[in-house]
Amino acid sequence: MTWLESLQEIEELEDAEFDAGLVAEMERAAAQNQDRMVRFSTPTFKEYESSELQSCGKNSFPAFSITAAGCALMCDHCEARILEPMIPAIKPEMLDRKVRELVETEDLQGFLLSGGSNRRNEIRYTRFYPVVEQLKRDFPHLRIAIHTALTDEKGAKEMEAAGVDVAMLDIIGAEETIREVYHLDRPVEDFEATVEALCATSMQISPHIVIGLHYGRILGEENALDILSRHDTKALVLVVIMPFYARPGTFATPDTRDVGRIFLEARRRLPDRQVLLGCARPPGMHKRVTDAYAVMAGLDGIAFPADGAVAVAGLTGRPFHQAHACCSIKLGESSAINSIAMLKNTSCAA
Ligand code: SF4
Repeated sequence: MTWLESLQEIEELEDAEFDAGLVAEMERAAAQNQDRMVRFSTPTFKEYESSELQSCGKNSFPAFSITAAGCALMCDHCEARILEPMIPAIKPEMLDRKVRELVETEDLQGFLLSGGSNRRNEIRYTRFYPVVEQLKRDFPHLRIAIHTALTDEKGAKEMEAAGVDVAMLDIIGAEETIREVYHLDRPVEDFEATVEALCATSMQISPHIVIGLHYGRILGEENALDILSRHDTKALVLVVIMPFYARPGTFATPDTRDVGRIFLEARRRLPDRQVLLGCARPPGMHKRVTDAYAVMAGLDGIAFPADGAVAVAGLTGRPFHQAHACCSIKLGESSAINSIAMLKNTSCAA
C-alpha cells in the first residue's frame, strides 16, 4: 500500500486533502529517515490534549516576557499578541520570585525568557542576567532558553555568561519581509551576523523560520535555509504563520502543500541537523495535514502534534516518543535520535 493510500485509512485524516505528488516524493525519500525518531513535544505554556497524547498538566516549562505585553516593533503578523499568554516579569525580582515559586510548586524544569523588541529588533535583557545567573547556580537542573532577537558578539557572550542554554531567533531571508512585515530597517545580513555571533558561544542555537511570514506567501524561506546551511546551528525549528494574530485580511493562510515542500527542502538541505516543527501553525485540518507532512518529510520533532500525527509516524515506520518540554529545549538530547531509549515557538515569540 502506498503512503497516500495508507493516509486515507487514518480516521483523523478522513477529510484531509494531500498532494499526491508531494506524498510520493516524501515516500521516495523515506529510506533516509527510517531510523529518525519523531519527538512529539508537549510544552506546558499551552493547554494541550490530543486524542493520542496528553499534556503533563504541570507548569514545568513556562515562558516569561520581560516587557509584559509591550513591543515597539509591532510586526504585522504578531502585533505583540504572542506575548500575551506569557508570564509578565518586567523586573528581575519578578522573574526571580516566580521561578523560585515554580521550582517549589510545579517541578519547574526550565523556562523561556522572551519579550517585545525595541525599534531595532533587539530585546534588552542585560539587567536580568544577574538573576538568571543566580537561578542557574541555585538550580543547576534548569534549562534556560532565550529569544535573542537581533544581537551582536557582545550580546551573545553576555547570554552565554549568564548561563543561558538555548538561544532562539527567527531567521528572515527576504529584505521585503524585514521592511514590510517587521517595519524594520535592517538587512538580511544582520540576521546572519546574529547567527554567527551565537554560534561562537557554547549555547545551543535554535533558529526558527516562519513559513509564510511574507503575508502568507513563500518568499525568503529558501534563502533562510541557505543562511543556516552556512552555520553550524545543529537544529532548525520551522513554524507556520498564524494569520489570526494579524489584522483581518492582511495575511493568507499558506497552502499546506507549500509548507510540506519547505519541510522536504529543509530536510534535504540540512540532513545532519534536528529539523523540528515548532508550536505555531494554523489549527484545524490545516494542522493535521501539516503535521502529517512533517512526519512524512522526516522532521525530527513536532510540538503539540495534531490528531493523526502518531498514526502517520506508524505508517512511515518511524519510532516516536513524547517529551514534556519546549521542542527547542530538548535539543541537548539530539544525539539520541537513533536511540529507542528516548521513547515515550522570533526575534520574539513568533
Ligand atoms: S514578533 Fe516579536 S517583535 Fe514582532 S510584534 Fe511579535 S513580539 Fe514584537
